[in-house]
Amino acid sequence: MNSKKKYLEIAVNRPINETFYYENPASGEIDPAGKRVAVDFGRSRLTGYIISSTEKLPEHIKKGITIKKTGKFIDDSPVFDIKTIELASWISSFYFCSLGQAMSTIIPSGKRGVTPEASQIFKDDMDLKKLNAEQNTAVEKIKKGISANAGESFLLHGITGSGKTEVYRHCAEFAVNTGKKVIILVPEISLTPQTISRFGALFGDRIAVLHSRLTPAQRINQWKKIYNNEVDAAIGARSAVFAPFKDPGLIIIDEEHVSSYKANDCPRYHARQVAFHRTRNSGCLVLGSATPSFDTLYHAKNKTINLLELKSRISVHPDPEIKIIDMSEQPSGGVISPPLIKTIKDHFKSGNQSLLFLNRRGYSSFLICSDCSSAIQCPHCSITMTYHRNREILLCHYCGHALKTPKKCPACNTGILKVAGAGTERIEDFLEKRLPDLRISRVDADTTSKKDSLFKILNDFRNKEIDVLVGTQMITKGLDFPDVTLVGVLSAETEINLPDFRSWERTYNQIIQVIGRCGRAEKKGTAVIQTMMPDADPIKSALTGDGEGFFEREMKRRMEMSYPPFSRMIRIVLRGKDLQSTENEAQKTASALKKYKPEEAELLGPAPCPLSKIAKNYRIHVILKGKYISLLQAWIKNAGLQEGTKSKVYYEIDIDPVSMM
Ligand code: ADP
Ligand code: ZN
Repeated sequence: MNSKKKYLEIAVNRPINETFYYENPASGEIDPAGKRVAVDFGRSRLTGYIISSTEKLPEHIKKGITIKKTGKFIDDSPVFDIKTIELASWISSFYFCSLGQAMSTIIPSGKRGVTPEASQIFKDDMDLKKLNAEQNTAVEKIKKGISANAGESFLLHGITGSGKTEVYRHCAEFAVNTGKKVIILVPEISLTPQTISRFGALFGDRIAVLHSRLTPAQRINQWKKIYNNEVDAAIGARSAVFAPFKDPGLIIIDEEHVSSYKANDCPRYHARQVAFHRTRNSGCLVLGSATPSFDTLYHAKNKTINLLELKSRISVHPDPEIKIIDMSEQPSGGVISPPLIKTIKDHFKSGNQSLLFLNRRGYSSFLICSDCSSAIQCPHCSITMTYHRNREILLCHYCGHALKTPKKCPACNTGILKVAGAGTERIEDFLEKRLPDLRISRVDADTTSKKDSLFKILNDFRNKEIDVLVGTQMITKGLDFPDVTLVGVLSAETEINLPDFRSWERTYNQIIQVIGRCGRAEKKGTAVIQTMMPDADPIKSALTGDGEGFFEREMKRRMEMSYPPFSRMIRIVLRGKDLQSTENEAQKTASALKKYKPEEAELLGPAPCPLSKIAKNYRIHVILKGKYISLLQAWIKNAGLQEGTKSKVYYEIDIDPVSMM
């Protein structure tokens, strides 16, 4: 007879890498492992994750210590099991966080309540299409990988419009028909409605959807459907990689290059890395993109990942025509050149739509003094503030600090401020004046902060109630509108000079992604790239279609500097309000690291981060570089470093950082 055990081993969301013991309350159940329970911890009440129950306290718990009773149970049935605990332990050791921090990242926080179900996803009634030869080859190879169930991985490198989603659907159906469970990751739900509905069509009620717009209760309900095996598939953004299928038979990551797959908070996990981990011994992993990250592409070319290529578009029309406009030869001050204005008009006249991409929101990039030429900097961050004309403010895009626009230059007190550079707001304004007959709209963080506003703008665009859509990188992902025949890339060089070794890769990828948004259906597309740097390698290569050459040259540059993929990195960022103590901690960190430095690894810094101050916090980083991540992780461990606050300085530990800023 099973009797109630006296104590519960519990993990909590605190940066302490231990589990804690509580008394199973009088009304407690026999074995509540896998449930969540409220616990008093210090002076707070936290969610406790019950790892196990035990009759005897372990040796290291001191005698005489008072063991508290738990509070109320949150769940009436378990929401996690040993598999989730194992995944959380791996996250905890790979990304340097506590088990409880990992558990609370993995498991949605909601409580079961009487809430309306998540609104059903829109389902296209779309049957599986008959595959073309290239698609068929890819599907057959992946099917073998699924059947082998031995952790094979694939990169599906297919140009936009080559039918990658159809490949995923065939593979997902095959997996489910052979009794397996499928996880599909997309960059962001609201930007990929078409992908979601195409999987909705395939699985009907047998798919769970996890996204950020769900209420916590809806999230935990979707989670439980997966945990209880009521569905065959789960689709969602980054955190859906944790979907609690016991052994997922297939994980698909669409647009695998997108940086939103990397978490910005502790644990700073990458969904791709987690997916590799979950399929290392069983299952099958498919990464897909028109512009794979160079890390993934490198591994595919070196055959550690199987490379599958789709080189032709499904529709038979010719590839888009690409033109470049050298802005140094255009009249200065104009944000959109006369030839691009004319092209927008022409496409409008023939009943089509245009998409303009600029990676900078706001009115201009900054206000500059006509006397002393200084630009207004955020007092809390080391960056220039952005002018937002409709609110007459200067806004810092890092900390959100806002200033009323000053009349005179605050630096010299005499000069008049003038607008320099352009952001999406200024582009919209400029177009409204120059093309008053066209309906112009804008998609960026400023116009989509309200719930559903992005959805509404995209819907209006689809229904052709908008002629020209201006936007930031939000519009580069996955959108598929048949009447978009013109795309423009404005200031293509925006990122090129950033001190981040991936800035060229990003510039190239963004241009290719934007170009892919036009001429999706029967109509021929035109892409126009405006830039001050037409000869820069990433821009020129995107223009001439020399992706292979650009990749090779970029690999050569990285090999010389032994940057990833030729090495792995860990970046430690120290941030604090006091410069002196932040510098001190950075020095201490560096000396601790020097002491344990392995032969084959490199230590860079300490040095100020390129963004040396954000939100009143000074930022200093130290970079570890070496051939194997395990070597670097052991090094950090030996040096006794961990994420969290020490002497009022916060230590961020970023494994495989995607941003060096
Ligand atoms: P990608 O994801 O590679 O950009 P999609 O999967 O969205 O491409 O496919 C582009 C379009 O072609 C979609 O409208 C899709 O329904 C259609 N399509 C894909 N494969 C086929 C096929 N084998 N036969 C007919 N149409 C297809
Ligand atoms: Zn700021």
